[in-house]
Amino acid sequence: MAVQALCQQFSVQKASDNEQIQCLSQQLSQQKAASENRIKHLFEQLSLQKAADKEQIERLSQQLSQQKAASENRIKHLFEQLSLQRVSDREQIEHLSQQLSQQMAANENQSKRHQEQITYLWQQIGELQQDHHAAQEVSKALLLSRLPEFVTAVSRSSPTVRRVVLPLHNFLSVLFLESMASHRQHLHSGRFCDPPKVEITRICESINPNIQEQYLHARKLLVQRRPDGCTPLRGITAFKCAVECGHVNLNEYLLFHGCPMGAVQSILENGLDPQRGGEAAGSMFGKGAYFAETASKSDLYTTCSECRSYRECKHPRAERCILVVRVLLGKTKIVTTEDCTSLNRAPEGYDTVTAQKTSNGGRLDHTEFVVYKEQMTLAQILGAWASSVLRVQEPPEHSALNAEGRVIAGMSAACGLMEVLFAFFICQLAAVEAYLIFTVWSLCEDMKVSMKGQLPQLLVHKQSREPVGDPASALFGGQNRGLGYGAF
Ligand SMILES: [Zn+2]
Ligand SMILES: [Zn+2]
Repeated sequence: MAVQALCQQFSVQKASDNEQIQCLSQQLSQQKAASENRIKHLFEQLSLQKAADKEQIERLSQQLSQQKAASENRIKHLFEQLSLQRVSDREQIEHLSQQLSQQMAANENQSKRHQEQITYLWQQIGELQQDHHAAQEVSKALLLSRLPEFVTAVSRSSPTVRRVVLPLHNFLSVLFLESMASHRQHLHSGRFCDPPKVEITRICESINPNIQEQYLHARKLLVQRRPDGCTPLRGITAFKCAVECGHVNLNEYLLFHGCPMGAVQSILENGLDPQRGGEAAGSMFGKGAYFAETASKSDLYTTCSECRSYRECKHPRAERCILVVRVLLGKTKIVTTEDCTSLNRAPEGYDTVTAQKTSNGGRLDHTEFVVYKEQMTLAQILGAWASSVLRVQEPPEHSALNAEGRVIAGMSAACGLMEVLFAFFICQLAAVEAYLIFTVWSLCEDMKVSMKGQLPQLLVHKQSREPVGDPASALFGGQNRGLGYGAF
């Protein structure tokens, strides 16, 4: 029974399996057919795509070749254009460079013309300057040679001293300053100091009708004595007064004379007394009035207003006075090495003595002129100056000779220089300090005032400030006014 049942079951199973297998194989074949269709379809699509791609590629390559041809054409065209441009540029450049060279040539001509014009203008300027210089020289000669005229009886009787005005002041300043020479450092020194640097404080003109009359009278007598005039001097740097038309040459010079400040007034009033010459300074050329052509030489014999002798005066920075004296040298004896100490009048046949400097064969460092007659001198100008550096303090004796027989300049104040500089330095420090203190103080006061803002107090402060003044001018006012210390 069981077997029968199992067989039955098995056959049923087998039938269903067969059915299932049949169904599956049907499905499989259907699937296969579908896949084959699909593959076939894909192949078809692929071949279509391929054909399209090929067409596309063909089209693109055609386009590319066209493009290439166009580009080549374009490049060719550009090259042509470029070469054309180049040619035209080259022409342009050539043209421009031609123009440039023409322009340059024109410019060169122009500048040559300008240069010529400039040279011409400079020449004209030079000529004008020469004319101006000549005119100035003429007016200088006229002004310096001029003697004051006395018209009225009133002016005749009154000797006066008055300030010199421009342009005479300038001429005289130049005369003073340009004649500054270097002098020996000290008695036995072979070394020379730099020329002294001085500052002119004032220049005055002395007008003394009586002395001038004596001088003019002496000049008339000299003309009578030397009707043909005198031989002009050579190698003299002093100012020679102009010889008026129709007059003979009398060797009239403006020379410097230095003496103590205290003697100036008397000289202006009474004239130079040759008999007193050499009293103070020695008498290498006898008893006469001594003159120099270098102002610095005369300066050696000056003093400050306090001292009576140049030997005593140790105040190199103080103001002192030089006289410019109109001197009739006439026929002057040129002295080189001969001994003249015993002269008390001009050598026979001569009017004056001129002692030569070493460069002219003499034995002096600087030329000296000696006049033995009072009437042959006329103190005309009075120049006052203060030394802005250092003057050589002690001048030589007129008779002092060194081994070579030369006149020796006096002891220099070389150590005096250090003293002066040191004192000056200290003074400056003090002044600066005082000025600072004053400034701070006044600032404080001002602040106080402005804080309170009361008028009466302001007045009080102003009053209390007055006596203090400017400390710089308080320190340096007075004697040093002319020295230009104002640089604070
Ligand atoms: Zn004198
Ligand atoms: Zn003195």
